[in-house]
Amino acid sequence: LGIPAAVYALPTRIRPTRVSCGPQFRRWLPISVSTLAQLLQVLGPEVISAPDPDADRYRRDFSVTAPAGVRILALARPRNSAEVAAVLRFCNERGVAVVPQGGMTGLVGGAVPISACVIISLERMRAILEIDRVAGTLTVEAGAPLQAVQEAADAADLMFPLDLGSRGSCQIGGNAATNAGGNRVLRYGMMRDLVLGIEVVLADGSVLSSLHKMLKNNSGYDLRQLFIGSEGTLGVITTLVLKLFPKPRSQSTALCMLRDYAAVLQLLGAARAGLAANLSAFEVMWPAFYDLGTTGLGRKPPLAASGGLCVLLEAQGVDAAQDSLRFEQLIAASMESAIVSDAVIAQSQREVREFWDIRDCPGEFPAVFWPQISFDVSVPTGDIGALVQELRDVLLERWPAIQLLFFGHAADGNLHLSARTAPDVLPEQEIEQLVYEVVGRRKGAISAEHGIGLQKRPYLYHSRSAAEIATMRRLKAALDPRGVLNPGKIF
Ligand code: FAD
Ligand code: ZN
Repeated sequence: LGIPAAVYALPTRIRPTRVSCGPQFRRWLPISVSTLAQLLQVLGPEVISAPDPDADRYRRDFSVTAPAGVRILALARPRNSAEVAAVLRFCNERGVAVVPQGGMTGLVGGAVPISACVIISLERMRAILEIDRVAGTLTVEAGAPLQAVQEAADAADLMFPLDLGSRGSCQIGGNAATNAGGNRVLRYGMMRDLVLGIEVVLADGSVLSSLHKMLKNNSGYDLRQLFIGSEGTLGVITTLVLKLFPKPRSQSTALCMLRDYAAVLQLLGAARAGLAANLSAFEVMWPAFYDLGTTGLGRKPPLAASGGLCVLLEAQGVDAAQDSLRFEQLIAASMESAIVSDAVIAQSQREVREFWDIRDCPGEFPAVFWPQISFDVSVPTGDIGALVQELRDVLLERWPAIQLLFFGHAADGNLHLSARTAPDVLPEQEIEQLVYEVVGRRKGAISAEHGIGLQKRPYLYHSRSAAEIATMRRLKAALDPRGVLNPGKIF
């Protein structure tokens, strides 16, 4: 499912207070107006263009819009690594900032330009290069949409398990650059667990190609992991070798109503014991989220809202008859022991999709719950119930009219919160400060899967020590000494 085009037409918040670059980046000289002309000379109009001043596609991601007046000096849409390298070499020599862009579905402003820069959009590098059935790998250019990768694996009777609500629009290179998580992390891991080989172009234009297919490779430092989750600040990812899995032969999906988070933990324990490795998703939706995802968006709720929590439970296996029996037994036993108060098991692919549409409804928030601030935090799974309670208490005490939606990948310890205040005025920095203080006190992460980008940069210290941030800066300085790659992001 792509993000509806209309979403991009909706106003997003401009964050004028967040756009200044750190002092280390202020040394750029004013950039000559001839950047575009010179780049055109080097790479030609096939690759380089002036962005259409009316199109804001390159100026905004899903949550953040570039401040007015930020100049995009040139838009580079390379067709291969050599062209990416040529752009970077050119910009590095002249100290021109470069912002790598994928599908622009990021939720933290990581790909949004904040100062005069050249944009490198990977949108034309979308080829599926190879599927190796024996190695169980798929080699792909970074600009391929996630959904295209999933479909290519599926057509080869294999599976690429990463799955996000933005699957139709986000790019596989963006997924690697953000170390995306999503709906099946508890079984298959995050993006960094799914990448075997990588090709990256460094800031100076050199190409680092490690496109191998082995699961094991302890020949020195694992450089690949350095770039995964680096949010475009250490290199531009151009090609990936991804790990594929056997396609499941069975899928069982249910929605379960539970009275409270203690019952959710009991169900998780029962699901882990009863489904073992087949357990592939365990998504929790608090009541207000479930209401919005169903009646709030004009859908008939598959389960009547109970004022309790709703869990989307999914198992994937290889034996259709046995697997569905085991799944049904788990649900029945959980109802008998009063862990689950009500449940419904999907009887068709259409119902599976309907259940997931409820969980994936944040893609529709711009139409019904906007503007909003979204949070993506993590604490140990057992602490999530208490975290929700504490956040609700402190936020409602301070802003009684605030509307809060809690949901998330509870089995990964990952909680999402979307906060909206009426009437559309958000004291957003105060809300953020408060939430991150609570998460910091609990020694949690201020970003579980969306990254830091621009939006969370001021709060990084809640989750990372001064020594850790200093080490990140040293890595950045070693790989990008002129600070041209995506400056002003992460730290
Ligand atoms: P962009 O937004 O274009 O860029 C993100 C960052 O990566 C930027 O810093 C950019 O500079 C950098 N970048 C992009 N491409 C490259 C490249 N080739 N080389 C180097 N750097 C690059 N995320 C999750 O983790 N889990 C979810 O469940 C999830 N659900 C979502 C649901 C919805 C409805 C939406 C809108 C977003 C969701 N996201 C989720 C967030 C987002 O989709 C992911 O972060 C995704 O991985 C971003 O990919 P992109 O191609 O859109 O990257
Ligand atoms: Zn998520």
